[in-house]
Amino acid sequence: MIDPMSDPVPPRAEIVVDLAAVRHNVRLLKDVVRGERPVALMAVVKADGYGHGMVEVAAAARAAGADWLGVATIEEALALRAAGDRGPLLCWLSAPGDDFAAAVAADVEVTAYSLEELEEIAAVGPARVQLKVDTGLSRGGAARQDWHDLFAVASDLEREGRIRVTGIWSHFAASDDPAHPANDAQEAAFRDALALAASAGLEPDVTHLANSAATLLRPSSHFDLVRCGIATYGLDPAPGAGSDDGPRAALRPAMTARARLVMSKAIAAGDGVSYGHTWHAPDDTTVGLVPAGYGDGVPRAAGNVAAVWVDDALRPIRGRVCMDQVVVDLGGELPPPGTEVVLFGPGDRGEPTAQDWAEAVDTISYEIVTRVGGRFVRRHIDTDAPGGASERTAR
Ligand SMILES: *Cc1c(COP(=O)(O)O)cnc(C)c1O
Repeated sequence: MIDPMSDPVPPRAEIVVDLAAVRHNVRLLKDVVRGERPVALMAVVKADGYGHGMVEVAAAARAAGADWLGVATIEEALALRAAGDRGPLLCWLSAPGDDFAAAVAADVEVTAYSLEELEEIAAVGPARVQLKVDTGLSRGGAARQDWHDLFAVASDLEREGRIRVTGIWSHFAASDDPAHPANDAQEAAFRDALALAASAGLEPDVTHLANSAATLLRPSSHFDLVRCGIATYGLDPAPGAGSDDGPRAALRPAMTARARLVMSKAIAAGDGVSYGHTWHAPDDTTVGLVPAGYGDGVPRAAGNVAAVWVDDALRPIRGRVCMDQVVVDLGGELPPPGTEVVLFGPGDRGEPTAQDWAEAVDTISYEIVTRVGGRFVRRHIDTDAPGGASERTAR
C-alpha cells in the first residue's frame, strides 16, 4: 500500500484519488449483483466523477468490469467519447436545444422524459433512446398519466425505424432508508410501467431502477442493470441504515484531500479566532493555518464543527472558514510549516472521512467530495501498481 504521504506533495493543497480503490469498489459491486441472472453494472461518473476526475474514474471502472457508464449531460458523455471510451454509455439530463445529434453520432444512448424530448431525439435519429418514468420521486421522467402516450409514440417511432427503445428506467427517492414506504411503492409502480410498455410492444434491452443504496440494500430492485455512483467512490450510500459488516463496510474511499500547513503559532486564553471571533481560546493554545477555504470547496459551515488530521491527531477547526484558509487548534504543539494536513481521506490513519465531514456540516458525503476543488490540484495514484504510478492533473 502506497502512503500518499510519501508521494510528491504540492506546495499548497491537493486531492489524491486512488484508482485502485475505484477498481476495488467496482469489483465489489459486481459481486453484489452476481447471481443466477445476469445484472449489469453502470458506474455513474457525472459531475466530474463526483469530484474524482470523470475520465480517470471511467477508465478505472471499465478496467474493473463496469459494463456501462452513466452521466447526466450530453457534454459529459461526449467528453468520455473524446477521451476514448467506446462502451455502453447513457446520459439522462437534457435541456431544450441540447445537441442530440452529436450524442447519437457518438453512439451515446440518450434519455427521453417527455413526448417533446422523444420528438427532438427522433428528428436526429435513428437514435438509441431510453425512456425514464417517474415512479414517485417527482423529479425527472414521465408522470404516470403520461406513460401510455409516451410508450405508444415510442412504439410508433420504433416501427418507423427512427428510434430504438433500448431501456426503460426510473430512480428512487429514499433508497438510503430501506424501511421507507416509497421504496415498495416505487418498485411496484416501476413494474406497472414495464407491463404497460410491454403491452405497447416495447422490448427494451435493459430495465433499471437501483442506485448505489438500492444495489446494496434492495436486491428486488436490481432488474437488468444497477447504476452505482457514490459506492464506486467508496462512500457508504446509506450511512443512516445501521452498521454493516458486508459489502458496505468493504467499500474503500478513493479520495484524500490534504494540504500543507502554512504556519503555526501560540495564542493566549481569551483570544478570538478568525472572522467575527466566533471562537475564543478558553486556554493558551497553538493554532495552525491551513491554506484551503470555501473558495476551494471547504464548506463554510465547517467552522467550529469539523476537524482535520495533523501529526497523528484530530485538530478541530476554530472560528469561521475563510475563502482561502482555515485555522485549526493544534493543542499546544507547533508543527513546522509544510506539515501535512489531511482534511479527509479513507480513514485508515485515523483521519476524518468525507462522511465525518458530511455529518459535521449536516450534508451528505456526495456533496463533500463533489464540491471540493477550486485551487486543490488533483492527482491520481494507483496503489496496486508497482511504484503507485501517479499523475498530477490541473483541475
Ligand atoms: C446520480 C445518479 C445515480 C447514482 O446515484 P448514487 O446514489 O450515487 O449511486 C443513479 N441514477 C441517477 C439517475 C442519478 O442521477
